[in-house]
Parts: sequence; structure tokens; C-alpha cells
Amino acid sequence: ASGYSLMRDPRHNKGLAFTEKERDAHYLRGLLPPAVFSQELQGKRLMHNLRQYKVPLQRYVAMMDLQERNERLFYKLLIDNVEELLPVVYTPTVGEACQKYGSIFRRPQGLYISLKEKGKILEVLKNWPERSVQVIVVTDGERILGLGDLGCQGMGIPVGKLSLYTALGGVRPSACLPITIDVGTNNEKLLNDEFYIGLKQRRATGQEYAELLQEFMSAVKQNYGEKVLIQFEDFANHNAFELLAKYSSTHLVFNDDIQGTASVVLAGLIAALKLLGGTLADHRFLFLGAGEAGTGIAELIALEMSKQNGNPIEENRKKIWLVDSKGLIVDSRKESLQHFKKPWAHEHEPVRKLVDAVKAIKPTILIGTSGVGKQFTKEVVEAMASFNEKPLIMALSNPTSQAECTAEEAYTWSEGRAIFASGSPFDPFEYDGKVFVPGQANNAYIFPGFGLGVIISGAIRVHDDMLLAASEALASQVTEEHFAKGLIYPPFSNIRKISANIAAKVAAKAYELGLASHLPQPEDLVKYAESCMYSPVYRTYR
Ligand code: NAP
Ligand code: MN
Repeated sequence: ASGYSLMRDPRHNKGLAFTEKERDAHYLRGLLPPAVFSQELQGKRLMHNLRQYKVPLQRYVAMMDLQERNERLFYKLLIDNVEELLPVVYTPTVGEACQKYGSIFRRPQGLYISLKEKGKILEVLKNWPERSVQVIVVTDGERILGLGDLGCQGMGIPVGKLSLYTALGGVRPSACLPITIDVGTNNEKLLNDEFYIGLKQRRATGQEYAELLQEFMSAVKQNYGEKVLIQFEDFANHNAFELLAKYSSTHLVFNDDIQGTASVVLAGLIAALKLLGGTLADHRFLFLGAGEAGTGIAELIALEMSKQNGNPIEENRKKIWLVDSKGLIVDSRKESLQHFKKPWAHEHEPVRKLVDAVKAIKPTILIGTSGVGKQFTKEVVEAMASFNEKPLIMALSNPTSQAECTAEEAYTWSEGRAIFASGSPFDPFEYDGKVFVPGQANNAYIFPGFGLGVIISGAIRVHDDMLLAASEALASQVTEEHFAKGLIYPPFSNIRKISANIAAKVAAKAYELGLASHLPQPEDLVKYAESCMYSPVYRTYR
């Protein structure tokens, strides 16, 4: 290949890091200025430039440009500066990027499958240049983060999630395929936007929707085989639960909003028990929000309790209560409840308001997954603090503006006794001379390592026990030093090591369950996971 095309290929480009030898051997002389930079120096230069941008979206665009220009440098930067860059390539900035995707759109990333491609999805998949895909993240754009229906512009989410699969979980970039399924949008603003990049029609539903999804799922299996992991992302809850149930027995599917969230929150709870005392089943849980996140977490908690105490899951579910937009979920509402809420309709008189539910149930653990901000009021937090020595409060709704309460509020209103974690990051807070560090229940702790574990074991199905294994692996990474600061999650700076540990535990579970196809089982799974991880260091071209 000519030097010119080598430089224009993001997978091979090294920019100023091409050595003198490479410049001679690959016809690059004169195409580059004389200086030769190390990858470190390139990274330093880029971080310096990035920090000049004050508008987060500019940083996002700069990162996407880098990804299209020099892939290895993009991942090197992301891995070396994970805490600083995660909020740029992922939430919260990716949300804004999706909202403005039509106008910042440069070169398309990922694969678009719309209603126009009906009957031709297999051909579309064959247009993708990579043959050995291992992970697909797919969205239909209907519930992007806490932002609602962004239609085709949801593509930012699969692209962002997969860059984390590579950076945090070490899955090769060429094995990652972002897909957006465009069945229209009900977002009026987008429908009337001349720069909207998707189909300008209202969302297809019912049979038309189901058929397109069915064709997609079959085509993926036909084209990539049985061992490609399909992660459903940011589907609205009515479709999310149904798709997961429908395809979990025929495909290797994982829903991050339901299962990934559940696993990361359970990890925080298992870790928190070291501070709270008792077993999971000794605690009482109250959720605000009974959607994908809330019921997903609740179910995994109940399952873990059953593993621990051997009681039937129905028994353990009784320790978990949920409040939705109509109040506490109780037996008298059972008839009218969506099916995923029915298991949580326990015997109790109706309670309308959260604060009254808190006072009636007296939970030891309060979890917010409603998507609505400011719901953990002073009265709610004070009530929690009145009957708990250390109330555990998780305000999981994203983005920051939607958090049920802030870290400051949780610590102040509980007079420094709360253990607090949130979905969006909060800065450490000083109360009464002590610095509290809020934990972040970020799904990015789990899904990259989980996916790596699935891949290295060659698992053909996802089993709930693999989610429990991931939670336990993550919880075990929290040390005394972290607990002392009130943290129930480890710092992100160690994420590759954490991911390798999660991958090993997930893979071990897959082998134990007979779901692994990669035989024989490697002896040291942590070492094996680490050895499989993608390294962004430049290759030498001869
Ligand atoms: P979802 O499926 O739409 O569920 C939302 C639930 O909240 C529904 O049960 C809804 O009630 C309830 N709700 C809405 N407004 C309410 C109100 N004013 N009072 C009480 N309940 C109310 O959404 P989801 O996927 O579960 O996500 C919910 C939130 O969790 C989002 O903000 C998301 O960003 C966040 N989340 C965080 C993490 C994380 O921190 N790692 C992970 C996933 C999701 P009805 O059922 O009655 O409509
Ligand atoms: Mn999501």
C-alpha cells in the first residue's frame, strides 16, 4: 500500500509516530514533517489540546475525530485518562452528542438498519468490513439515557459503549459492531428538523416492529454465528423486557439497562454489607421507580438472597418494595400492573407518596431509579436517618440533573451517616470535618469485563448466575482503604484489572454451567483474560 493510504487508514495510522525506518519502507517520506513523536508525546499533546476546549461537546467531537484518524492513539488516550475521558465519550456528554448528532455528524460510524432495509438485513451486515465480530451493541433509540426518544441519533450510544468495551474490557476494536435500528421516531422536534439523519416517520410498532427485529436477530446469527454477544441498549422498557425474554433462549443476548445495571448495583450492595453488617436478606429495600433498572436490580438482589439463604425467590422478593408513578406497588393494584411489576405486588394497603412509603416500610436501603430528580427530599432522607444508623441511599437516575438527591444533600440531611452512591458522578463532600467520597454505580464497571468473560469462554448463552459472579467479582475489588472513605465501588483508574477479574469470574461460571465452548478451560482465567486484552500500543511495520 502507498504511504498515503497507510496514513489515511485509522487502524494503521501512527501520525508523527511513524519511525524513520517506517517512513522509508512505506513511502511516507515527505508526507510527514521531520519530527518523530513517541505515542506518549502524542497523547500529551492531545490531552493538552482537549483541555483547552471548555465546551464538553467540542471534546467529544475531538475524540471522535481522533478515533477516525488514529485508532490506537484514541484507545491509548482513553485507557490512560479513563476518569477524565469517560464523561466525554460516554455519559453525560454522549447524551448531548446524540441530541445534536444530525449537526455534528461527519463520517458515519456503525451500521444503520432502517425499515428501508427490511428483507435485506443480511446484505446490510455483509457490507460491514469486519468478518469476526464478537460484540454488537444495538439500540432502536427510543430511550436514550434519561433523554427519551432520539430515533436514529441514538447511534452515539452503541458507538460509545463499544469504545468502552475496548478501552475498559480489552475487546479488539475490529470485533465491535455498533448498530442502530431505525423504525422511526415519535420525537416531534426531530421529525421537524431538516438536519435529522433518520427516517422521518412515526415509530413502527406491533408486528411491523417485531418482524424487523426478528429478521435482524436471524441475520446476525446467520452472518456471525452463535457466539456473537448482542447487547440491547436503550430500548424503551416495553420492548426491552420482551426482546430479552424472547431471544435469551436462542441467542447470546444481554440487556445492559436491565442486567448490567442490576449487576453493578448488586456489587455495591454486597460491598456495602461490610459497612452495614448483616446479609442481604437481613435488609429491607425500597425502590423509587419500577422500570428496567428498578425491577432488574430488585430481581437480581432476590436471586442473590436465594443463593445465600436457600429460600425460594418468592420469599426473598417480599423484602423488596417498589414505588412507581402511581405509588407503592401493592397487591390491590395487581390486575392493572405491567407483567414485570407483578412479582413485587406485596400485601399492603395503598400508599401514594414516597415519604409515606418510606415511613410505612422502614427500608434500610433506598434506591432511586425513576428518572425523576429531587425525589429524595429532606423529609425522605431524614426519615431514613431516623430509623437507620447508616442509611444506604442510591440516587441512580441520570443525568446529574435527574439524580434523586445530591451527595451533599444525602450527607447533610443524614448528619454524615448516609452511605451514598449515585448514577452520575458527584465530587467528594466535606461534612463535619470528614471527607466523604460518593461511589458511582456506573454500568461501565460491569459490561466490558462481563463481555470479555463471555468471549474468552466462548459462552453461548447468558445466565443470571454469570451476572451474580460479575457482582461478586466487582465487590471483591473494594478494599479497606476505599471503605474508610465511604466508597462502595473501587476507583476507575484500575478498571482494566477489575475487568480482567470480572471476566475471569464470569468465564469460570460459564464453564461451571456447561455454557462455555472454548475448551479446554484455561488454567489461570485472570491471566488468560489479561493476555486476551487489546493493547493500544503501536505496532512496528517492517
Ligand atoms: P424506565 O424503565 O422508564 O422506568 C422508570 C420508572 O420510574 C417507571 O416505573 C416509572 O413509573 C417510574 N417513575 C417515573 N416517574 C415517577 C415519579 N414521579 N414517581 C415515582 N416513580 C416514577 O427507566 P429505567 O431504564 O429504569 O431508568 C430509570 C433511571 O435510572 C434513568 O434515569 C436512568 O438514567 C437510570 N439508570 C441508572 C443506571 C446507573 O446508575 N448505573 C443504570 C440504568 C438506569 P411507571 O411505571 O408508573 O411509569
Ligand atoms: Mn443504557
